[in-house]
Amino acid sequence: MNEVAVIGGGASGLMAALEAAKNGARVTIFEHKDRIGKKILMTGNGKCNFSNLSFSDKDYYTDNFEVLNEVFHMFSNIDMKNYLISNGIMVKDKNNYLYPYTEQAATILDFFRRELSYYQVKIITESEIIKISQNLKEDNGCFTLEHKEQTEKVRDKFDCIILACGGKAAPQSGSDGSGYQLAKEFGHTVIQPLPSLVQLRSSESYFKSIAGVRCEAEIKLCVDGKILTAESGELQLTDYGISGIPVFQLSGAAAEALEQKKRVEALIDFIPGTLEKELIRQVTSQIERLNKLKTSATFEEVLFGLINKKLLLMMLKQSGFRPEDSILNIRQADLEKLIHRMKTWYVKIVNTNPFANAQVCRGGVSCKEMNSDCESLLVPGLFFAGEIVNVDGRCGGYNLQWAWSSGYVAGKNAAYKHIN
Ligand SMILES: Cc1cc2nc3c(=O)[nH]c(=O)nc-3n(C[C@H](O)[C@H](O)[C@H](O)COP(=O)(O)OP(=O)(O)OC[C@H]3O[C@@H](n4cnc5c(N)ncnc54)[C@H](O)[C@@H]3O)c2cc1C
Repeated sequence: MNEVAVIGGGASGLMAALEAAKNGARVTIFEHKDRIGKKILMTGNGKCNFSNLSFSDKDYYTDNFEVLNEVFHMFSNIDMKNYLISNGIMVKDKNNYLYPYTEQAATILDFFRRELSYYQVKIITESEIIKISQNLKEDNGCFTLEHKEQTEKVRDKFDCIILACGGKAAPQSGSDGSGYQLAKEFGHTVIQPLPSLVQLRSSESYFKSIAGVRCEAEIKLCVDGKILTAESGELQLTDYGISGIPVFQLSGAAAEALEQKKRVEALIDFIPGTLEKELIRQVTSQIERLNKLKTSATFEEVLFGLINKKLLLMMLKQSGFRPEDSILNIRQADLEKLIHRMKTWYVKIVNTNPFANAQVCRGGVSCKEMNSDCESLLVPGLFFAGEIVNVDGRCGGYNLQWAWSSGYVAGKNAAYKHIN
C-alpha cells in the first residue's frame, strides 16, 4: 500500500487526498493552518462557484496547454458535477455557473471532510514542513518528510508527495507562497507569481470624485499602445482605480505587462452598445431643438441622460468644461471630442492591488516540468495539484475546476506509483 503525503489542505489537496485514498493509498494531509479548506469557504462570495458548464482551454492561462487539456480530459467540469451529485450533493446551475444547491461553500468543504473521514485520511493541521528529501538509491526512492508537530520534530517516510500548497493569492487563507520553496528545493522552476483576478490601480487623482460608481462598460486593455483584449460587464470605480468582474478578467495580462515595465492603459467605453456617431447625432439634435426654443441649456442639463452624473461632472472637468456653462454654442469638433471621450476614456494603470486582494495567482511552478499525470518530470513520485503550478483561469468557477481536475489526477496516479 502506497503512503502518500499531501502538502496543503485546500481544494486541490482535499481532492488529491480523497482520490489517493479511494485508490488504496494510506494518505496524510499536512496543513499549516489550524483548519483545512479555509479558501473554499471564501469562494463565490461564500457560495462556491465550483465550476462552469461553458468550458474551453481559452478560459485558462498556462505555459503548457497540452498538459492542461489532458488533465481536463481525465476529469472534466461534467465529471466534477457528477462526482458531487453521485455523492449526494445537489448542484445548482445558474447560467452555466455551477454552485452547490445550498449556495453554501461549507457544503463542499463538509463533503470533503465526510469522505476523507470515511476513507481514513489522516489530517495534521498546524504542521510545519521543515524539509522533504528523496533518496533514489535507498528506501525504494522513498521521500523523507521532516515536519514539526507542536514543538516536536517528526520524520516520516512516504512513497509519494503531492504538493498542493496553492500560490500567493489571499495569503490570509494559508497560501503564502511557501510551496514554491519546496518545489525549488527539488530543482523546479517557479515562474514569477503575480496577482490575478484583482483590482487595477491608477495614479489619477480624479478617482476620488467617482468612487462608488458602478456602471455597465466595455474595457479594453491597452499595452504599449496596442489593444490586447476586451471585456464587458459591471465596472466598479474606486478611490484608487477600477474593479469589477471585467477588470478582474483583464488583470492577469495587466499584471504581466506591468511586471515587464510596459505602458498599461484601460480604455473604457462608458456607453457600450451605442455607436459614437449615433450619440453625436442625438446630442446635436437636442442642441438644435433647444436653440430653436431660444432657451438656455447647460452641459449638465443636456448630457446627464447619457452617463452617470458623477462621471459626467468628472469628465467635463477633465475636458475643460464647466457643467453650468451653456452647451448651445459648443463647436461641433469639441462636442465630438467630448462624446469620443465618453466612449474611449483612457486610464493609466500603474499597479495591481496586492496578493491580499487577489483571487488567484498567475505564475508558479512551470507546467513544462510536469506530465499529464501531474507528476514532476524531474523527481519521480513528486506530484503537483492546483494553483501552485502555472495555471490560472478566468473568473467563473475555472480556478476551482483546475484544482479539482489536477487534484483528482495527481491523487489517483500517486496511489499507484512505484518508483523502483
Ligand atoms: C476570495 C476568493 C474567491 C474565490 N472564488 C472562486 C470561485 O468562486 N470559483 C473559483 O473557481 N475559484 C475561486 N477562487 C480561486 C480558488 O479558490 C483557488 O484557485 C483554489 O482554491 C486553489 O486551490 P489550491 O488547493 O490550489 O490552493 P489553496 O486553496 O490556496 O490551498 C492551499 C492550501 O495549502 C496550505 N499550505 C500552503 N503552504 C503550505 C505549507 N508549506 N505547508 C502546509 N500547508 C500549506 C494552505 O494553508 C492552504 O490550505 C477564489 C479565490 C479567492 C481568494
